Amino acid sequence: MLRSATVRILRAPATCRAASTSRFVRIVEVGPRDGLQNEKTVVSPDVKVELINRLQAAGLPTIEAGSFVSPKWVPQMAGTDDILRRITHSSATKYPVLVPNSKGLTNLLDLLKSSPTPLTDEIAVFTAPSESFSKANTNCTVAESLERLSHVVQVAQDNGLRVRGYVSTVITCPYEGRIEPHAVREVAKALLDMGCYEVSLGDTTGAGTPQTILEMLNAVQQHVDASKLAAHWHDTCGTAIANVMAALSAGIRVVDSSVAGLGGCPYSPGATGNVATEDVVHVLHGDGWETGVDMSKLAATGDWISRELGRPNESRAGRAWLAKRARESATPPGPRARL
Ligand SMILES: [Zn+2]
Repeated sequence: MLRSATVRILRAPATCRAASTSRFVRIVEVGPRDGLQNEKTVVSPDVKVELINRLQAAGLPTIEAGSFVSPKWVPQMAGTDDILRRITHSSATKYPVLVPNSKGLTNLLDLLKSSPTPLTDEIAVFTAPSESFSKANTNCTVAESLERLSHVVQVAQDNGLRVRGYVSTVITCPYEGRIEPHAVREVAKALLDMGCYEVSLGDTTGAGTPQTILEMLNAVQQHVDASKLAAHWHDTCGTAIANVMAALSAGIRVVDSSVAGLGGCPYSPGATGNVATEDVVHVLHGDGWETGVDMSKLAATGDWISRELGRPNESRAGRAWLAKRARESATPPGPRARL
């Protein structure tokens, strides 16, 4: 028998409910960056350009277009400058690029200055609350990382770019295990204080559950308003959609996702990518939320890029949608012989 005293129900932070009247959820499509950079197969620039154009045509308002990281470290992200030049720019769409450090920002600024037309007005920077993760990824302490980033943010803003911040490993870290929610809060607050307009909270390991996600959000929202936060959940343990709904209940209205669930980690068997955009759109539309995304075009894009990568389409909603469409468009069978 379930004893009610042992059942803990964590409620969404009361401070955030007031900000929850809007039915619009902004989806930040991270497939071309967070997705592709973690795929084993390196796709051609032509495929990347087509992917971004298709996502734009499907109505995604923000599409992370790539990363200004050294191709020596992340070969999948080589040629982001070329991608930015070649995509069909829509004034309704944002095309942020990840900039890991000052060198990446200098390269981006050189590109922007050399271009006769605007290519992007937004960058993303990243850090983590875990000392071990920070050391492994950026070879510095969390404090040093924040100091370096504040310089990057300052220079970006001086050059007219707005900056989005990522906090990785907000639930668990592969090296340290469970991360204390107050450590996430401090890093998120530091990113906002240095000038980021929004902070995306990343469950990089995908270990989060609705309860642990809400515990973390409760701590962060003691100092940060829900309107400044985004949910970035990976689906390693199959809990990402439940966690998206938990984030909505806490007043968050921005969700990062990756078409066809692109991503994973080539070095870590079993690790999966971001929550699939098709799955997020399916659950949001089903529950009466608005996203501005055309599910039909999105599902077709997920199917196409999965074929290009030679991998299964990891979106259940995308597969179901396509199967339904295929059934509907099939020629109806003729009258069956009665036996
Ligand atoms: Zn991610």
